[in-house]
Amino acid sequence: MSNDTGKFPELFGSMVFNEDTMKERLSPSCYKHWKKSVSDGTPLDISTANEIAEAMKQWAVEKGATHYTHWFQPMTGVTAEKHDSFISPEEKGRIVLEFSGKELVRGEPDASSFPSGGLRATFEARGYTAWDPTSFAFIKEKSLCIPTIFCSYSGHALDKKTPLLRSMDAVSKQAVRILRLFGDTTTTRVIAQVGAEQEYFLLDKKLYKQREDLIMTGRTLFGAKPPRGQELEDHYFGAIRPRVASFMQDLDNELWKLGVLSKTKHNEVAPSQHEMAPIYSDANAACDQNQITMEIMKKVADRHGLVCLLHEKPFDGVNGSGKHDNWSLSTDTGKNLFKPGSTPRQNAQFLLFLTAFIKGVDEYQDMLRATVATPGNDHRLGAQEAPPAVVSIFLGAELSAVVNSIINDTALKGPGKRTLDIGVDVMPPIPQDNTDRNRTSPMAFTGNKFEFRMPGSSLSIAGPNIVLNTVMAHELMQFADELEKAEDFDDCVAHLIRRELTAHRRIIFDGNGYDESWIAEARLRGLSNFSTAVDALPAYIAEKNVRLFTDHAIYTREEVDARYNIHVENYNATIEIEARTMIDMIRKDILPAVSSYGAALCKGLAERKGLGLPFKYEENNARNNCMLSDCLHDACLKLEKDLRSVPAEPVEAMRYCHDILVPDMNECRSYADELETITKRSEWPFPTYSDLLFSEG
Ligand code: ADP
Ligand code: MG
Repeated sequence: MSNDTGKFPELFGSMVFNEDTMKERLSPSCYKHWKKSVSDGTPLDISTANEIAEAMKQWAVEKGATHYTHWFQPMTGVTAEKHDSFISPEEKGRIVLEFSGKELVRGEPDASSFPSGGLRATFEARGYTAWDPTSFAFIKEKSLCIPTIFCSYSGHALDKKTPLLRSMDAVSKQAVRILRLFGDTTTTRVIAQVGAEQEYFLLDKKLYKQREDLIMTGRTLFGAKPPRGQELEDHYFGAIRPRVASFMQDLDNELWKLGVLSKTKHNEVAPSQHEMAPIYSDANAACDQNQITMEIMKKVADRHGLVCLLHEKPFDGVNGSGKHDNWSLSTDTGKNLFKPGSTPRQNAQFLLFLTAFIKGVDEYQDMLRATVATPGNDHRLGAQEAPPAVVSIFLGAELSAVVNSIINDTALKGPGKRTLDIGVDVMPPIPQDNTDRNRTSPMAFTGNKFEFRMPGSSLSIAGPNIVLNTVMAHELMQFADELEKAEDFDDCVAHLIRRELTAHRRIIFDGNGYDESWIAEARLRGLSNFSTAVDALPAYIAEKNVRLFTDHAIYTREEVDARYNIHVENYNATIEIEARTMIDMIRKDILPAVSSYGAALCKGLAERKGLGLPFKYEENNARNNCMLSDCLHDACLKLEKDLRSVPAEPVEAMRYCHDILVPDMNECRSYADELETITKRSEWPFPTYSDLLFSEG
């Protein structure tokens, strides 16, 4: 595939039924109805749906599509699709291409095998899907994909899109209330904006296929440290291998066609690791696009004889992969609400939004942590390569100085001085792209947005953004309630900002998040530190968090419970699959290999002894081989035994998996990795870290 950037304008979005295409292909009144339904959040009427469906189908068929699918995001975090053909049989063996408004706004996937976390009784196993008219349809592999919400017949959300849309509405509603108080009469909607940077590894497919752990679990369960890791931090800039370069071109092309404005980069620290950053968009589109991106990355890699790993920690001792969630709020008139302004009013408004964010992150730090709690991310957070498991906010020197001067009621140093009514002088220029910003912070203010750095690379960004939006809605609601009653508005704003910044200053931390002393200080500050998913996940069902979601109609109590259950079950399933894969590899690959190698060593040793020759090397080697094989065998027996006793109750099982199975697996791995270092290269049964990490050539 060529990457002809000259054709970019035609290429970009060419596989998306986007606004331009709709304008071109729909009647003016139908287009207007669609626009209105998007801006007001009202359902499409059936005649509009029919016209859109017809136009969509024609467009898709012209582009070579033969099928359509309701593309949705079940609670597992992956995307799902069920393909139906446009072709429907007619009398006398004729066929017509058919796709009506009814199919557009409501499909019925036989979705009984998607996890429902207990939300659907089996007798009503079917859910229904309906086009989300705020997301554009697109063509992928000859299928027209219709971004869809997915609900049970009782109305419970079974997906990640429905609550995300609800949370975007909630934050919009409250933010508009605040804007009105500041005299903004034109904004009708405030839109959460998101840009998700995606990290990933590329590996040679032939090598990947030789490792059962990569195939089954997405990460290596064994592997001794290679002689060279990521010490040469800059080595990667020098030489992008041709295969990777051509993968990247192809990836950009494919993503551009689907309307994802990506910029693939190759600047990650670990060997074979890369990053893709898109241009940000509204949170709903960003979430769809990130799901598409992950899928396309895997497909394009495959075409290039590569495998794309999205696991949070494919290799021990090498940096894992994250997904930075850049988040901000903007008005429908295009104003970023996290951009400091130039007048006292604008600055007061900026500081009010900032204060709401700080208060919200402090109050719901446990919930934010829970949104990134997965077994894969447990290997990353707090491992000196990703933010710690403690949530805190980095503001940077300039903004911290402002916040401190407000809290302490002191004038800022420098040219201006601050007046109590949060005057113009209070805001020093805040750099928009602060290059020396703190990379160790889980939540960094980066000039006009916050960058949430805790999500792992395979996570759907819906979860974190649902919480960010809802928390913000919640704080803005309280502020609006207070300010709407104010006698002196300016005074009330100033008072509120100072009061809340003072109350929540503990969450602000500009220092080094990797530093041991920060964890101790965080404890003194009373910040929570849930170091594993097992500790973090129960935040889902903490009463204050359930109330947050139910108050803003994001989730019902049942929907929260369902999500908690799914996360717990996912944790258990992941650990158990890893344990079984490990046993399989120990029994079928490692022990047989080291045992026959050991036999050869013993034979050599006996020969040397028989000839009266020196045999120190042979003896040491044989002894270590036999000792470590026995240890590995014992550790494997223990893992097998413990795996048979996993409790039936899911929450108990989660504890058990973490407390018993994970240490068992660590034990197995330590012996296997040591064996690897003393085994002849050609005798080791699968590719090593050196082979994998420096393979993509
Ligand atoms: P980094 O230095 O963190 O790698 P990048 O420039 O690669 O930064 O990525 C920044 C991401 O933030 C991009 O996806 C970009 O589109 C997104 N972004 C920029 N401005 C905003 C904003 N106002 N709101 C949300 N996301 C934004
Ligand atoms: Mg980033």
